[in-house]
Amino acid sequence: MPRGSLSTYKKKRDFQRTPEPAGKVKRSEGDAPLRYVVHEHHASRLHYDLRLEMAGVLKSFAVPKGPSMNPEDKRMAVQTEDHPIEYLEFTGTIGDGNYGAGEMVIWDQGFYEPVEGYDPETGIEGGKLHIVLAGKRLQGEFILVKARFGGSADGRNWLLFKKRDEYAIAGWQPE
Ligand code: MN
Repeated sequence: MPRGSLSTYKKKRDFQRTPEPAGKVKRSEGDAPLRYVVHEHHASRLHYDLRLEMAGVLKSFAVPKGPSMNPEDKRMAVQTEDHPIEYLEFTGTIGDGNYGAGEMVIWDQGFYEPVEGYDPETGIEGGKLHIVLAGKRLQGEFILVKARFGGSADGRNWLLFKKRDEYAIAGWQPE
């Protein structure tokens, strides 16, 4: 599997001016549990960024309405540039004039694993990822599937939703 790439991430940022980590693509850590984070990003528009550790980077998705524990809620998730692993711990305020200016707060964090046992990178490349999250706010099975609008699946639009399981919460609202 190809490693992720941080070239777009680095191109968009001036590390003299942003508190965000520069970072490097990491080597695989073998059997270490895979981590994830959801940032609440107070950018020009509030949104949530789901970031999954794989391929030596964090595969990142901007979710305007945020993830939901209610299986009825199908959330649009737009794939954004790979972020460095160090971003799992990042909180802070990105100053005006920088890419993504605004406060970045950790909304949820924990571990995840693919349900079918395949490598998660295979899922991302194939346009469907079925994972189990073990976090503070998010738990249980989630599906991330590439969206087809107008018959096209070549964009960066995905859908994120909770799968029905014992962790699903009907009528869930974020605190
Ligand atoms: Mn963001």
